[in-house]
Amino acid sequence: MGQMQVSEVGEFALIQRLAGILGQAPPPELVVGIGDDAAVWRAGAAYLVATTDTLVEGVHFLPAALPWADLGWKALAVNVSDIAAMGARPLFALVTLALPPGTPVAGVDALYGGLSDCAARFGVAIVGGDIVRAPQVSLTVALLGQAETRRGRPLLLLRSGARPGDVIAVTGSLGDAAAGLRLLRQGVPPGDPRTVAQLRPDPPLGVAQQAARLGIACGIDVSDGLLQDVAHICRMSGLSALLRAAAVPVGQTARQEFPAEALALASTGGEDYQMVFAGPRALIRRLRSLSGAVLTEIGEMREGPPEVRLLDEAGAEVRFASAGWDHLRP
Ligand SMILES: [Mg+2]
Repeated sequence: MGQMQVSEVGEFALIQRLAGILGQAPPPELVVGIGDDAAVWRAGAAYLVATTDTLVEGVHFLPAALPWADLGWKALAVNVSDIAAMGARPLFALVTLALPPGTPVAGVDALYGGLSDCAARFGVAIVGGDIVRAPQVSLTVALLGQAETRRGRPLLLLRSGARPGDVIAVTGSLGDAAAGLRLLRQGVPPGDPRTVAQLRPDPPLGVAQQAARLGIACGIDVSDGLLQDVAHICRMSGLSALLRAAAVPVGQTARQEFPAEALALASTGGEDYQMVFAGPRALIRRLRSLSGAVLTEIGEMREGPPEVRLLDEAGAEVRFASAGWDHLRP
């Protein structure tokens, strides 16, 4: 018999397993450890936030289809999304580049051009990193940020922050990143506007910070797919979520290009890098009017087993082949 492989365990079980190996009691400065979008710790009067994410050639991007500048943008934007998902402000990034020796220098220049554009967009300074040789291109960004405080307490959006009766709301629209990936695979060129959601995600950082400031306590970014990401809120908050399929804001590209699967792309496709909030209806509505953002109420949190149910207009549960993205399963 062969040894068990990580693909058999899956990403989330593997994280739990590894957290168990670490085992030691965290230092008292730690506020949020493994299991949220980013870690948070106290440093003097400040609350600092850190996250990291990697894009790998052949896994997260297709070398022929993804221009270097877009790769640079996306590698930082997905980390900004995780800092936004805590309600915090991104500040400093470390960039680790793994490159085959034959990589064109002009490509790396363009990659840093995209990184730099994204850094300017979100007020991030790139302050260091590492370059290593590897059989394929990969790009790891570690991003540090800071949470705002009020009366000495950090204003954070936590996966564990939902309460029964909270409204679930999502920014922007969903499904266009997955639709864009399909179009790229079909040979649509990266310059096509229908691929922008996939290649240049633009996380709603300001709205997320405003949510934390208003007192909304629960948020997550849509990275793995709406259903899976809301399931993380359910698990960490010990609650059920009921979502109305008809309310899910499906993106225009998904609707126009893949009408039969548009709801599936929006619910399970992932990589939209929008924000999901759970909070009292009055706060959600206040956030909408103050921010002017597109913020759609799609369901609510309930007492019950930690699971997400997506219901059609007749009240029947809508199911899809896959709930979302697992980074270790093929
Ligand atoms: Mg996240």
